[in-house]
Amino acid sequence: MATYREFHQRSIDDREGFWRDEAAAIDWQAPFDQVLDYSRPPFARWFVGGTTNLCHNAVDRHLPTRAGQKALIYISTETGQARTYTFGELHAEVNRCTAVLRSLCLGRGDRMLIYMPMVPEAVFAMLACVRLGAIHSVVFGGFASHSLASRIDDAKPKLLFTADAGMRGGKALHYKGLVDEAIRLSAHPPEHVVLFNRGIDKNPAMTAGRDLDYAALRAQHMDAQVPVTWLESSEPSYILYTSGTTGKPKGVQRDTGGYAVALAASMQHIYCGKPGETMFTTSDIGWVVGHSYIVYGPLIHGMATVLYEGLPIRPDPGIWWQIVAEHKVSVMFSSPTAVRVLKKQDPRYLGQHDVSSLRHLFLAGEPLDEPTARWISEGLGVPVLDHYWQTETGWALLSSLPGVEATPVKYGSPSFPAYGYDVKLLHEASGAEVGANEKGVVTVVPPLPPGCMSTVWGQDDRFVQTYFSSFKDKLVYTTFDWGIRDDDGYYFILGRTDDVINVAGHRLGTREIEEAVSAHPNIAEVAVVGVHDAIKGQVPMAFAVLKDASMLATPAGRRAMEQEVFAVVDKALGPVGRPARVHFIASLPKTRSGKVLRRSIQAIAEGRDPGDLTTLDDPGGIDQVRGAVTGVQE
Ligand code: ATP
Ligand code: MG
Repeated sequence: MATYREFHQRSIDDREGFWRDEAAAIDWQAPFDQVLDYSRPPFARWFVGGTTNLCHNAVDRHLPTRAGQKALIYISTETGQARTYTFGELHAEVNRCTAVLRSLCLGRGDRMLIYMPMVPEAVFAMLACVRLGAIHSVVFGGFASHSLASRIDDAKPKLLFTADAGMRGGKALHYKGLVDEAIRLSAHPPEHVVLFNRGIDKNPAMTAGRDLDYAALRAQHMDAQVPVTWLESSEPSYILYTSGTTGKPKGVQRDTGGYAVALAASMQHIYCGKPGETMFTTSDIGWVVGHSYIVYGPLIHGMATVLYEGLPIRPDPGIWWQIVAEHKVSVMFSSPTAVRVLKKQDPRYLGQHDVSSLRHLFLAGEPLDEPTARWISEGLGVPVLDHYWQTETGWALLSSLPGVEATPVKYGSPSFPAYGYDVKLLHEASGAEVGANEKGVVTVVPPLPPGCMSTVWGQDDRFVQTYFSSFKDKLVYTTFDWGIRDDDGYYFILGRTDDVINVAGHRLGTREIEEAVSAHPNIAEVAVVGVHDAIKGQVPMAFAVLKDASMLATPAGRRAMEQEVFAVVDKALGPVGRPARVHFIASLPKTRSGKVLRRSIQAIAEGRDPGDLTTLDDPGGIDQVRGAVTGVQE
């Protein structure tokens, strides 16, 4: 077997040969005549001339070998429902849904916006859409009307596919009302709204002529067989907006063939999944992780996928491990944020179920601090692998490749560049490559590998401007993240470039200080931001959530806790990293995808307007921060 190093080296030195081999993992209706067209940098077209289809690769092609095997395992702890679909049944449902959408004149290149809870019909709608060669844009269910309206105006969908309601923590969220309001606000309303009524909202308001009931339409197409529309490899499969942690979300456009190949390759080299096994990804279909690893990745690879609607702690904090045990999950993918939620619960839940089927637990989305990684890995007895990527890349950019070589894990590091990515750490001012143990911006020398974004939807110049224009005279893709590489070649993400703190001339990543604070055993989670200071330029300020907050009852207890945090930071980083203050709060403000909104925390700490909060999950976190900095809470 090749080693990681050889494998990665070949992917850069013999790019075309490497990806030609990987492309054999999917079905092509017509073969491609060129692996890569890079005649218009930085735009890359992969597998030029080849025709394929995502739905065919995820569903149809498995029918001869695994029609009777499980494909989709739906579990909702919100409604108590559970349903399983074999590949054969999934094929039938997707064909019904495709026929419905076709009857509404959805065709190649048209957009359909999907605003759905985590129910099987959401997956049918995605697959049906790509089956027709139409482009889906899944918007996280539960985004407020104006967020939805801005995405409608950008994608200009012909159809909008939604449900009566979603459920979260036992509370219903009435999607249809939000959709109606979004359409009212929109400049480009869709022609039709297709409503899947799951029966939570008994009587959602229906606008005659515009709104249609999915069940009634489906009933007309029970035996439908709709042939797939073969697309040229570079034709778009979907648009997905970034999380909006740093500002206005960008419409990431993905191709078809490159994406299918990238996912198929990753299922083997990164996730080590085997056809016929089961993958459980705890994300939501509204995020890139949901697109790649709830829906397309496992299905393309012939694996069953778990679609879980519910919280990680209901009915009890062992629910995920119960699912793993029951369905013999072999590949699991979650986020550090979710693990930190579990970490606040009784640890005995980690050991209650038989998780021996699990090969690895993969985590991504936010920095994974060492104590959290250790806690979950030791508690489960399963290797935990951090990997780093973005909506833009569609799959991992930094990752170990256990399917190629079992390299040792260093906690706190997502390991190495994944194959296909020519990663460079660049000095942010000069653009020169930095050496080992020096901080720099994480960049990729284009062409970006298959699966990465093709462009910003409808705005080629914004694609170049946003992602490829950070350095003069140098065409490189910037991730807007800051990182460092150690002597062994392991990368560490230090935070976003926007969040770098400049304390008296020292450049510190928020992540470095957060990691140091997290070393205190009573810290559940923490966010550090840089706050303007007349003398030092900036000072770090920490906002921490405690596991046991009982000592906060007295001012003396609070001060003692703060001193303890200072002490652990001094030990790790020296006094330069010591926060000016540590504020203890009950929850951090996060985006709905679970990312800490440092931008808004910083604004409040500096007495500024926190800006656009539409991607915020729970306004309570912002109030907490405000209370802490204005002293209301103390
Ligand atoms: P926007 O680009 O709209 O501001 P966003 O960057 O939060 O939103 P995503 O694409 O969902 O949107 O998130 C990608 C970012 O998440 C990365 O750029 C990085 O900052 C962070 N991230 C992802 N995985 C990791 C990881 N393993 N370690 C550290 N940070 C990570
Ligand atoms: Mg981003």
